Amino acid sequence: MVVAAPGFLRPQQVAPLTPDDDATIAAICPGLGERVTAEGRTDSVLWGPYVEMQTGWATDPEVRFAGSSGGVLSAILQYLLAADHVDAVIQTTASPDLAIGNATVVSADPAAVLFAAGSRYAPSAPLAHLTAMVAEGKRFAFVGKPCDAAALRALCGRDRKVAAAFPVILSFFCAGVPSHAGGKAVLAALGTDLDQTERFRFRGNGWPGRAVALLKDGTERSMSYHDSWGKILTNYIQHRCKICADGSGMAADIVCADAWESDDAGYPLFEEAPGSSLIVARTVLGAALIAATEAHGHIETAAFDVSQLAAMQPGQRWRRGVVLSRLAALRLLRRPVPRYDGLHLWAAARQNSLSQNLKNFLGMLRRILRPSR
Ligand SMILES: Cc1cc2nc3c(=O)[nH]c(=O)nc-3n(C[C@H](O)[C@H](O)[C@H](O)COP(=O)(O)OP(=O)(O)OC[C@H]3O[C@@H](n4cnc5c(N)ncnc54)[C@H](O)[C@@H]3O)c2cc1C
Repeated sequence: MVVAAPGFLRPQQVAPLTPDDDATIAAICPGLGERVTAEGRTDSVLWGPYVEMQTGWATDPEVRFAGSSGGVLSAILQYLLAADHVDAVIQTTASPDLAIGNATVVSADPAAVLFAAGSRYAPSAPLAHLTAMVAEGKRFAFVGKPCDAAALRALCGRDRKVAAAFPVILSFFCAGVPSHAGGKAVLAALGTDLDQTERFRFRGNGWPGRAVALLKDGTERSMSYHDSWGKILTNYIQHRCKICADGSGMAADIVCADAWESDDAGYPLFEEAPGSSLIVARTVLGAALIAATEAHGHIETAAFDVSQLAAMQPGQRWRRGVVLSRLAALRLLRRPVPRYDGLHLWAAARQNSLSQNLKNFLGMLRRILRPSR
């Protein structure tokens, strides 16, 4: 994977592909499409198949504080290591070479998992070294974006060695990946730049936690999540994420998200508070692991009314609804479109008004015909 302007990770072909390689890529690449089957689970139009949903938080205050939301992903990972369900965890943390960038790390103890807690709103490629990981003969828990989880799940279905190496797949709701240009824009808004920045945290250390740049002179600059994510980073999300129908990790065993509180109008509040995660068990294995994590005291959970989820995640609800009209515009212009099976695009689109769908159809046409950046 190489960084390409304006700061996205892109695959670079380094050797010829065999017809088998080509066939595997065509079958598993989530950029080309995704297939979801309910297989007896509750299947929500907006949120896909699931076994149960709860809210919760890590019981260790340090993990809850460091985590993006309630630190539940980190707490589950720590439990999986402690209970010897896996030998190590594949996850993403800050790059040692680029303060606003990401690096994939293999964590084998609770301290390493804690170190990698928190969301990083920048490109990541946690599957880039998959072949080497499988060759190690270890069992890994994997954490990645919904597209990473979809690719890994599809490959597990074709390759038993990969399935044995990755017995647990975790993910999080994802509204899309901003480029490094987005991270640089946050630094600029903080009155600094990459040269002066030693370390950068997108959020966490509180809920939602602030975007914090630690400068080489030892001073710190920060801005709220609402300003960094809401006003800057969302403007740098890549095109492919805008036509993603799976922002909620449908291929994972367990998915976490922000369990935002809403105001009277139903809009999420981003006031600092003790962290709380939405916890979605997508599979029977996921539900069992959540129960075991709680039984061993790593997390506390609370009941959750799924009908509240659309108000808690308005951005996700909205994107699910507009994907169909955006894809229709791309089709009309004979641009490549992903193939989605079992993702209820028509039913999701019907939850929007006709004018919303039309606006997104025309908006996508305009963006392709007159790109601004
Ligand atoms: C690009 C992006 C978009 C997101 N969009 C939404 C959204 O629309 N709605 C929502 O509710 N939540 C979203 N989240 C997820 C949210 O920020 C929390 O990660 C989630 O609520 C889980 O919180 P936690 O405290 O349980 O996780 P933590 O305990 O903090 O663990 C987070 C885990 O995610 C891994 N991770 C962090 N960044 C990345 C990355 N870029 N790529 C791969 N793995 C990573 C870390 O290594 C860690 O293992 C997004 C996260 C990212 C990175």
